[in-house]
Formats: sequence, C-alpha cells, structure tokens
Amino acid sequence: MAVPQFSFRVTHTDGGARRGVMTTAHGEVDTPAFMPVGTQGAVKGVTHRDLEALGAGILLCNTYHLYLRPGADLIARRGGLHRFIGWTRPILTDSGGYQIFSLAARCTIDEQGARFQSHLDGSRHLLTPEKATDIQAQLGSDVAMVLDECLAHPAEIDAANQSMERTLRWARRARERWLGLRDGPVDGVIATNAGQAQFGIVQGGVFPELREVSARRTVALGFEAYAIGGLSVGEPVDVMYDLVGRTTPCLPPALPRYLMGTGTPQDLVESVARGVDLFDCVLPTRNARNGQLFTSQGRINIGNARYAEDDGPPDPACACYTCRTFSRAYLRHLFLSREINAATLNTLHNLNFYLDTLSGIRESIAFGRFESFKVALHRRLSRQSDDS
Ligand SMILES: [Zn+2]
Repeated sequence: MAVPQFSFRVTHTDGGARRGVMTTAHGEVDTPAFMPVGTQGAVKGVTHRDLEALGAGILLCNTYHLYLRPGADLIARRGGLHRFIGWTRPILTDSGGYQIFSLAARCTIDEQGARFQSHLDGSRHLLTPEKATDIQAQLGSDVAMVLDECLAHPAEIDAANQSMERTLRWARRARERWLGLRDGPVDGVIATNAGQAQFGIVQGGVFPELREVSARRTVALGFEAYAIGGLSVGEPVDVMYDLVGRTTPCLPPALPRYLMGTGTPQDLVESVARGVDLFDCVLPTRNARNGQLFTSQGRINIGNARYAEDDGPPDPACACYTCRTFSRAYLRHLFLSREINAATLNTLHNLNFYLDTLSGIRESIAFGRFESFKVALHRRLSRQSDDS
C-alpha cells in the first residue's frame, strides 16, 4: 500500500457481504457505507452539522463543479477542500468525467482527454487524466478517482472494448501523475493532502468478459482500491447485479470496492450481497427536493392530494427529526408552497433512511443475519404504497 494513512480491514463476512473499516487521512469509515453527494462542497438543503448528526461518515464532492467554480487553485490556497468547506470527516472526489459527459456542452473525447465547454460560462477546457489528478490533489480529498471514459448505454461490444482500453491507458497516466505528485510539486501543482488515496475504475459496458479483463488489468496498475463504473446508466437491474457479481471476485478481497452512482435501497443491499463496500447516489437528495420520500413502506410523493390532511409522520418507522416532529400534511404544505424548509426536511429524512439502511446492513452482517435482512428489506419495499 503506497499510502500509510489509507487502509481497509474486513471485520466480518456473511456470504458475499463484508463489513469493514476504511481508514483515511481524515478518519475511519464503517463499511458498507453510503456517501451523500455534496456537489459544490455542500449537500443541497442541509448543513454539515445535519450530516454529522445523521452519522454520514464520508462525503462525495464533484471535481467538475469545484474546478469550474470556485477553482482548484483557490481551494488549494485555502488549504484544501476540508478546510475550505469546513468538513472534518473523509471526502471522496470523483474525476469530473461523468459530469463532463452529462452536463458540459460540446464534449469531445480523444486520446489526450475530454474537451468541453463549461455549462456556466461557455469557457473551453481540456480535462486529461493528468489534469483530473492534479485538480483532486489540489482539492486534497482523501480518495481521488481516475478519469475514465463514460460510455453511453447501449454500446456494442467493439465500442465498449475500445472505451475500456482507453480507460486503462488513462488509468496508467493518472497513476503515474499521482505518484509524481506524491514526491513533490509537479508543474506547480501541490498536493494538499499527503494521505490521499487513488482508486482505479473498472469499465467494460454490459459485457461480463470485458468487465473481467478491465478488472484484472486495472488491478495490475496497483491502486489503493477499485471502483465499478459505468453502471446504473439505463441497463436493467438484473443485468447490473449480474455484472457487479462477476466483477467483485476479480478485485482484491483485502481492498474496498466502490460501486459508483448507485442506486435504490434495493440496489444497495443486492450489491452488498455481491461484496460492494461503498456507494454514492443523488437519489435520496434529489428525490427529496422533488418531494419524493423513501419510507419503510415504499416511496411516497408528499405533494399528493391524499396527504392534505394526513396527520401521520412521513414514515412511522423512522426516528429522524422530520418524522419525529412533522406531519405529512405539513410537509405537503411546505412542498407545495416551495418553502426552502421542504427541501431541508425531506432531505434529512431521505438521507436518514439511506444511512439507517446501511447501518442495518452493517449490523446484520456482524450478526450473521444479512440474508434475512435483505429478504425483509425487499418484502417491505415491494409493498410500495407507491403513489408516484
Ligand atoms: Zn424520517
């Protein structure tokens, strides 16, 4: 392991599921863990104090957004992202690639990197594997991700193969850059977190044979840990579960495994069953702002007319501040009135639901009851009082 501040220890296993502790330069994370998405250095609608109270152990921040505004140089001059945003626990940053492919204008890819125009002001940029590594070194996150090519779904096997090969070449370049930055400034770029780890990313589209090749060759490059990218992009869930299940055995059992950008509570528990340790997703926070709440009895849309005079809590089984204090009728009123508090209270609940689900998963693994936890979760959530 190239970074003494970074380590991972599996403490319990139950079938394919693992419970463990990931240690970073900013503290420990109990796994399996869910990372709330703090796009611009903040989780929309809630404060860091709220996140700490909810037990969020690690935050994900988006490199693309922070690079465009306020800029990596400015954040580096403030001592790095932790100090700038006032968050003392671990932070993972993505490479920026996914946002370029999904948000930026006029994105073109060649061997050098991704050329794009800012969605904010139209300015032109080139993100190379080296540049993505530099930016994250300046941000000083505890975990940095390599720049990978995000393949559009669906893709034929030839296109998926070429994309996977490019991602491997980019991963090698990113690793070389990262190793250089560990020895000191490179081209004027100074790393603000000496304990930063770098994760490689497995690609390969929906083709299991490519996923296996990608996994083995990415592992050969020697990262601190590995992520599975390019899933949850429109493929059926059973295809995703199958691909996750075929990829995790190709990854080192002693290192954490991160499934990027996924998913529903059901996706999380199924992926934990296949040996995944880390997750991030905008679902709980984005859906909260759109009035959709994840509950122990399925999802509900709080704006629905049926809740106009409903005095019950959003989720009777939830102990969060929102559920302890407010009725569906009041939350519906706030949502329809477009009160800022609607986003805050809904987000508090949804994040609590996700973090609580992960806490239940960890506990069930420790007690050897993961399978029955998984079955019960599916049974509860498939009951779906779904009024979407
Ligand atoms: Zn709640």
